[in-house]
Amino acid sequence: MAELIDQYGRRLNYLRISVTDRCNFRCTYCMPAEGVPCLSHEEILRYEDIKFLCRVFTELGVVKFRFTGGEPLVRKGLVPFLKELREELPGIKIALTTNASLLGEYAGALAQAKIDSLNISLDTLDPEKFASVTRTGKIEAVLAGIRAAGKAGIKNIKLNTVLVRGFNDHEICELLKFARENGLLLRLIEFMPIEDGIWDKSAYISGEEILSMLPGGGKWEKTFTEHKDADGPAEYYRNEKSGDRIGIITAVSNHFCKNCNRLRISAEGSLRSCLFNPRETALKEIIRMRDPAALREAILRAVSEKPRCWNDVKTGSLHMSGIGG
Ligand code: SAM
Ligand code: SF4
Repeated sequence: MAELIDQYGRRLNYLRISVTDRCNFRCTYCMPAEGVPCLSHEEILRYEDIKFLCRVFTELGVVKFRFTGGEPLVRKGLVPFLKELREELPGIKIALTTNASLLGEYAGALAQAKIDSLNISLDTLDPEKFASVTRTGKIEAVLAGIRAAGKAGIKNIKLNTVLVRGFNDHEICELLKFARENGLLLRLIEFMPIEDGIWDKSAYISGEEILSMLPGGGKWEKTFTEHKDADGPAEYYRNEKSGDRIGIITAVSNHFCKNCNRLRISAEGSLRSCLFNPRETALKEIIRMRDPAALREAILRAVSEKPRCWNDVKTGSLHMSGIGG
């Protein structure tokens, strides 16, 4: 089988697809209060386009597809689409990243679509702080969504928290307890400098500092076997006393470029070979021609330009909601 291997020998077998640039939240670290200009329906990839794209990427050795956004569940028809994709490509792993606000409605159908894993973003358990960080969100809906996902039997649910100094850095203990009680794996993420106007250096907390802040009394030991996704950027730790587990994603301080296995597709069908590199390859027209050979060629060309490390590229000012995280 063909494989996607870049000039630094990295095997690219994981594709993150943004299915929409729209979102029902306006998280302060992700986009400005007024939101961002949205693409029209004609501009974004249709489900048939995405299916064709997944087929071609599967032939190139991609085994895991994560659907993200904006908020993926605000796009109509996503869950039936995932079900169809699962039936057509039974060998792939399907993952979803969501703010969970609409999970109450969709958790059952997502379980039926046999998604392999679910990442839920939640930064605080305090209703007022939640309303302030999301600007438009209500925590009750998110908590109901998390309960619904557990009840529906969705496996491998992770809770992703962007740790922001002065906002939620004193809440790790509560979040850990919440994760434990709900059978979720908590991961703390370094606040990433995606957009100059949004990133605040003083609010950034490095992974090393996060590790030193972990509660629990006992020692936190690095685990290499449990929960370690071969394709994930997180380092996992286990508290020897409580048995709690936690992941830390150090995308800024100790980036994982050397082992990066991922590519990204934006809602309008452009391939981004590195999260921090604004340079994209537009694929929509080629996808719509339904010419697998031409699409393969364009993908291979884009892959050959994947930077060695994000330090080597000039970060653009694109909001995370447009890239999908
Ligand atoms: N709306 C969905 C959600 O929030 O899960 C999916 C898209 S969102 C862009 C994907 C992830 O990116 C979320 O976990 C969010 O917390 C994270 N994110 C957004 N802006 C970020 C930033 N500046 N630094 C670190 N993570 C960020
Ligand atoms: Fe929307 Fe997710 Fe960005 Fe929050 S982090 S504004 S939920 S896309």
